[in-house]
Amino acid sequence: MKRFGAHVSIAGGVENAPLNAAAIGADAFALFTKNQRQWSAPPLSEESVEAFRRHCAAHHFDPDFILPHDSYLINLGNPDPDKRRAATAAFTAEMERCHALGLTKLNFHPGSHLGKSPVPEALTNIAEGVRAAIDAVPDVMAVIENTAGQGSCVGSSFAELGSLLEKIDRPGRVGVCIDTCHAYAAGYDLATGEGYESCMTEFAAAVGWEYLAGMHLNDTKGGCGSHLDRHAPVGDGALGVETFRRIVTDPRIGSIPLILETPEPDRWADEIRLLRRMAAE
Ligand SMILES: [Zn+2]
Ligand SMILES: [Zn+2]
Repeated sequence: MKRFGAHVSIAGGVENAPLNAAAIGADAFALFTKNQRQWSAPPLSEESVEAFRRHCAAHHFDPDFILPHDSYLINLGNPDPDKRRAATAAFTAEMERCHALGLTKLNFHPGSHLGKSPVPEALTNIAEGVRAAIDAVPDVMAVIENTAGQGSCVGSSFAELGSLLEKIDRPGRVGVCIDTCHAYAAGYDLATGEGYESCMTEFAAAVGWEYLAGMHLNDTKGGCGSHLDRHAPVGDGALGVETFRRIVTDPRIGSIPLILETPEPDRWADEIRLLRRMAAE
């Protein structure tokens, strides 16, 4: 069964995330496990971890449907070896926080070559960092998100994600998250039936459905191929409600967390209701 949620706030502590998700009628959610604007954070307190697990259990949130997101500051593709080492350490620490919380996935953006290294080299650097973290922390899957291809960010094409999976070479410990806004911005025309099919055919060939571990359901204010990462509420952007109907009724998309990162939290409950209704039709 497809499950729906949003990237909810952890203000006051990570233990509030499952409560915030329950309040909008979600049966999945995403969260940061620390302030995403800071490099390091004090370790999670025992009380916080215990309360998080208790709140998840009370509201029936299964770890498979919780998709934590790492800090935006981490760039595993940094061409500077010292900075890349620091990024790998920070990414490993994020995985450890997930593991402490009993979570089984960590969603991240592959990274950027900063205009200083060719794409294949950046992909190799990213793969090395991910593999080091996977080998250091058990049970947490690294879930690579496609990007809008803005600036020097890599990973906007499914071919690049497929290449990353191959280079990481840890089947079962890596997955992929498709962000609909990013895919459209990268040039996959999800807004038409034909475009949707060709996008998913390419995904199946370059990545494979077995790797799909989650999706971010965002409408978009940018055009197809614009490389603009501007999320919009479901139905308010260029993708439109029909695109989301295709997704939630697509039998190839299995039992995974489908997460809103849309900009108006007041509307999340309504957006979830709409998605769930379309999925049931
Ligand atoms: Zn996303
Ligand atoms: Zn985005």
